[in-house]
Amino acid sequence: MHRRLVILGPPGGGKGTLASRLAEHLGVPHISTGDMLRLEVAHASALGSRAQAFMNAGELVPDEIVVEITTRRLAEPDAADGWILDGFPRELSQAQALEDQLGPEAVVVLQVPDDEVFIRIAGRRTCPSGHVYNVRRSPPKTPGVCDIDGLPLQQREDASEEVVEERLATYKRETTPVLDYYDGKGLLHRVDGTGDPDQVYERVLSELESS
Ligand code: AMP
Repeated sequence: MHRRLVILGPPGGGKGTLASRLAEHLGVPHISTGDMLRLEVAHASALGSRAQAFMNAGELVPDEIVVEITTRRLAEPDAADGWILDGFPRELSQAQALEDQLGPEAVVVLQVPDDEVFIRIAGRRTCPSGHVYNVRRSPPKTPGVCDIDGLPLQQREDASEEVVEERLATYKRETTPVLDYYDGKGLLHRVDGTGDPDQVYERVLSELESS
């Protein structure tokens, strides 16, 4: 199977869950630009302070920031033999920046209807290390506490209805051209992202294994 994969999809589309499973399966790092940016915000770095306002408004963080942290991460030794990029590239200029290095061998886009996106994000809780739960569909064993590391679960700051509307609009406006770009190169796999995470994972594996 390919070892350089890009996972895209709307907010709440299940990119992170899928990417972490694929990364484990293939033994390559899961590189999430959203997680890296949230970490910068949590550390109150100069870069994080610049990114925060865009994230809280549901807009894309400027390219120069995102391309820099992604390029730096891709240059680390554990990414030499492959990677799963989660949420990057999200606009054409980023796709171009990725071509300047080694581009993806396949791009998976999870397709999830808008009303499902709202339901998923309203119930979503994450721990500071990034483990994801949904209070309705995949609750932690103890309410409010991460099963894996015991840390308190939180709702993301960009989970309000208005911000989710903006994130969805941004996705449609900025990321659709990226999908068209990869489609034109014959790399795009559109996969139904509804149902439980196991089903989605199996769908993606069979799609990629038959490609
Ligand atoms: P995510 O966790 O993938 O939903 O990303 C959360 C937020 O981080 C997004 O709403 C953007 O503000 C920002 N972000 C993540 N990835 C990118 C990217 N590739 N380009 C620009 N902004 C990004």
